[in-house]
Amino acid sequence: MSDHAFATRAIHAGQAPDPTTGSIIPPIHQVSTHVQDGIGGLREGYEYNRSGNPTRTALEVQLAALEGGAHALSFASGLAAEDALLRAVLKPGDHVVLGNDVYGGTYRLLTKVLAPWGIETTTVELSDADAVRAAIRPETRIVWVETPSNPLLKIVDIAAIAEIAHAAGALAVVDNTFASPALQQPLALGADLIVHSTTKYLGGHSDVLGGAVVFGDDRYHEQIKFQQFAVGAVSAPLDAWLTTRGIKTLAVRVRQHSENAQAIAEWAAARPEFETVFYPGLATHPGHDIAARQMSGFGGMLSLALSAGPDAARSFAESTRIFQLAESLGGVESLIGYPPDMTHASVRGTALAVPENVVRLSVGIEDVADLIADLEQALARIAG
Ligand SMILES: *Cc1c(COP(=O)(O)O)cnc(C)c1O
Repeated sequence: MSDHAFATRAIHAGQAPDPTTGSIIPPIHQVSTHVQDGIGGLREGYEYNRSGNPTRTALEVQLAALEGGAHALSFASGLAAEDALLRAVLKPGDHVVLGNDVYGGTYRLLTKVLAPWGIETTTVELSDADAVRAAIRPETRIVWVETPSNPLLKIVDIAAIAEIAHAAGALAVVDNTFASPALQQPLALGADLIVHSTTKYLGGHSDVLGGAVVFGDDRYHEQIKFQQFAVGAVSAPLDAWLTTRGIKTLAVRVRQHSENAQAIAEWAAARPEFETVFYPGLATHPGHDIAARQMSGFGGMLSLALSAGPDAARSFAESTRIFQLAESLGGVESLIGYPPDMTHASVRGTALAVPENVVRLSVGIEDVADLIADLEQALARIAG
């Protein structure tokens, strides 16, 4: 599959028809164990399903192909994938450098769950190369990159950060959830490992949780696979199957998400009710040039700062009708959120706090004129 283009790989990698029945779609192997042909006689290597399940394998092959990777491992959630990666790579005394607007759950995992086991972290402005170099210590093992970031859509130059990390003997890990592999291929830009919350664009329909680690080569594959097996935060067969189905339409969905978000960003930029529009597809966005270089589109996420302040932002988030008020992102339906009280409540008062007048949109693939009309009526309601 590796010689085919992205949209073709997304549909066919790991998805061959069932050889015994000819089912065009690989079945959901809803099982916990496999019969052995004599003791230790495993068929295709499957035994007890914490160590492997054919539906999970079908998803892992597909995920690796999407990112141009050598391997992928699928987990029960994005955070389960991150946890397996961090515990496989780090030991007590090691240090991680993170962006100052990293996903709050990643920050919580490192500072609340892993810190008591001796892992240290520093948050830094990743778009400032000197600040990143200054944050690196002899014990730094990972520089963790998220771009575009959440919720302010900051753009980080993946190739530049990978170079700095490698010069210091550290790994560059990219959380590619926001862009998805349809728009951004971090391995080709020098990243070592990729993590995903497949809950978002990859699943794409707000009906399944999942996560993944994708590997550029063999490094850490055995160690992280061992964590997956020994700890057991694996994706269930039905969840893996739903994710493979979602991935098949990723290329067309993300194209429409990006087109709709660009139209909404341009509409919002012309409205006085918004003092800032955070969207990398706008030429005025500080990361626009880097995004244009390292992404093939600007994605479906955008944030808006309300000129009238925090109360207006809160009311606006509660006044839309098509945009549903909910956490999460990346589904076909549009969502709106108020990060300070929702996704980013756990980082209020820290260096990662989000401005109190910001709302975040996950722009879906509905008709864009309906979406803009919805935002217009919300503005009219909060003004009246
Ligand atoms: C949602 C998300 C995660 C965590 O994934 P879960 O599937 O919710 O565990 C990690 N990183 C980013 C950027 C996310 O949006």
